[in-house]
Amino acid sequence: KEKTLAMIKPDAVDKMGLILDMINQKGLLVTKAKMVLLSRAEAAQFYIEHQSKPFFNGLLDYVTAGPVVAMELMGSNAIQAWRDLIGPTNPSDARSQNAQSLRAKYGTDNTRNAAHGSDSKESAMREAEFFFPSTGPA
Ligand code: ATP
Repeated sequence: KEKTLAMIKPDAVDKMGLILDMINQKGLLVTKAKMVLLSRAEAAQFYIEHQSKPFFNGLLDYVTAGPVVAMELMGSNAIQAWRDLIGPTNPSDARSQNAQSLRAKYGTDNTRNAAHGSDSKESAMREAEFFFPSTGPA
């Protein structure tokens, strides 16, 4: 079984019940979860690969505007399964390509797109370690 890291962004946290229904429906298991308010430095660390992008500061504003919910999801092909559930990065693309997707239903624009999903096994491991570090007290 594969694991991935899902993050529900601040403006979609009030849809967590509906999002958990979608996760269940897809056959994914929630194996870890936490709600956390990220500092700007923490958000910058999480999104370090985007630090030189023009949308970086706006992205940090968005994901630090309120608590996020981070989840480790487990299942067969969990990385792709969760990315299929969230849909394309841009919610307007999501609404035309997959109207049932999370970003189609709860996303607003290219930045405010409701959710994040790891894009590879390597990023899944890095991002899970970011939210659920294996060192220190549980
Ligand atoms: P992936 O990381 O696999 O590409 P993603 O859909 O999360 O998938 P990224 O390209 O990683 O998208 O971008 C990270 C986040 O930055 C997006 O989820 C979105 O919130 C924001 N973002 C991405 N592209 C833009 C853009 N062109 N303009 C504004 N914000 C963007």
